[in-house]
Amino acid sequence: MREKLKALAELQKVDMEAAALRKAADVHPRQIAELERELGAARSAIEAERARVADIERQKLQLEQNITDEKDKVKKWEARLAEQRSTREYSALAREIDIAKKANLTMADELVEITKTLGTAREAVKGKETEFSARQQSLAGRMTELRAKLAEAESQVKQLEGQRAGASAKVDATLLRRYETIRKKKLPALVGVGAGGQCHGCNMNVPPQLYNQLRTSLGTDVCPSCNRIIYAVEALAEPTSK
Ligand SMILES: [Zn+2]
Repeated sequence: MREKLKALAELQKVDMEAAALRKAADVHPRQIAELERELGAARSAIEAERARVADIERQKLQLEQNITDEKDKVKKWEARLAEQRSTREYSALAREIDIAKKANLTMADELVEITKTLGTAREAVKGKETEFSARQQSLAGRMTELRAKLAEAESQVKQLEGQRAGASAKVDATLLRRYETIRKKKLPALVGVGAGGQCHGCNMNVPPQLYNQLRTSLGTDVCPSCNRIIYAVEALAEPTSK
């Protein structure tokens, strides 16, 4: 009886270890996903900044083009001005030239402003890029670490699965079936009954007769309250007299 119990206790030890390992390893994929999200958000922020710079650059180019066009126009008009014979046409053209020159001055002011804005935006992007690449490096390091931990946990679980096959082969078939059924609902499925007859699974007292029987047989039974497989704790206590 006692050997059967010991074999089952061995199996449960492996199962508990694997369960703890799985639970601990479970956080790694979540942490990795979290880090990936963080990195993605930082990257989007940078991309938005870059888009803003590109936008300002386009505006600046457009403005420069407009200024060039206006200047060309003024040049052409000024050349034409000399050919004007009528005073009325002359002064009309002169007024146009004047307006165009003023518009050009306004655009020149705008160009100064936009150049300043562009400089500031470029500096901001540069700063953020430095920040981002440092962040990226540290996150990548952290991810590598987590992936290694995850791989290690997985290989440990695999190893335990191998151990489990060996351990379960040693367990009595009927007992194993019962254990597997309970294990799916609750772990530990095998619990001791301590001094005073208290089940360590549900903390209820088992009937005295059942407790006495467990102590005599050093075997297993079922807790009437929680249905776990029970044994008297002294049955697994080492060293043993039996
Ligand atoms: Zn119980």
